[in-house]
Amino acid sequence: MGDNMVDVAENLTQFKTDLPDHVTLVAVSKTKPVSAIESAYATGHRDFGENKVQEMVSKAEALPKDIHWHLIGHLQRNKVKYIAPFVHLIHAVDSFKLAKEINKRAKQNNRTIDCLLQIHIADETSKFGLNYDEAEALLKGEELAALDNISIKGLMGMATFTEDQEQIKREFKGLEAFYERMKNATASLANCSFETLSMGMSGDYALAIECGSNMVRIGSTLFGARN
Ligand SMILES: *Cc1c(COP(=O)(O)O)cnc(C)c1O
Repeated sequence: MGDNMVDVAENLTQFKTDLPDHVTLVAVSKTKPVSAIESAYATGHRDFGENKVQEMVSKAEALPKDIHWHLIGHLQRNKVKYIAPFVHLIHAVDSFKLAKEINKRAKQNNRTIDCLLQIHIADETSKFGLNYDEAEALLKGEELAALDNISIKGLMGMATFTEDQEQIKREFKGLEAFYERMKNATASLANCSFETLSMGMSGDYALAIECGSNMVRIGSTLFGARN
């Protein structure tokens, strides 16, 4: 246990006990030290999420190679090359240009990189994420279909930061419906195989799972509050 008295292993084990089997837990370790990840790793956990490239790269260097690293934050094109050799899943693809760069770097590393499109579902203004129309156009476009070294595994979304449960539910339900529609629409595409709907954080994961999420990204509940 670290100075902050958070027992990561205990929190993680408890959290997983309550999690349905079909839901993958991404333990969001951003801002937390390598030692906290080691505590979680010791319980057998392998999926960790970071939102900054630099931090993910240095942690990946310091930790066992069988960790599945999830890049959950905004990704700048000029930083793709640093994570391309090892990243497990990129959750926040929000433009064709970014997809194209990921494809290029994946090819250089002789691999296919799994990606999710980030959809902007919150009513907050944010520079990040595609709206439904943009995402649909991208998924149905010939340009994306030509990228052989990426695999679009599904979608990611973040609900509005609000106490209004009905609003959060509406946003998650909307994304689930869109996910199902796009899953069908892309079924014949070689580089799309929808299986992951990444929705839900510490404050709203239960509702997200109710609304069809099968991947939750949990930070503070496991690792304690961030500064
Ligand atoms: C930080 C972060 C999380 C985890 O948030 P918590 O509220 O600490 O669980 C999940 N998803 C994204 C995209 C994040 O940036």
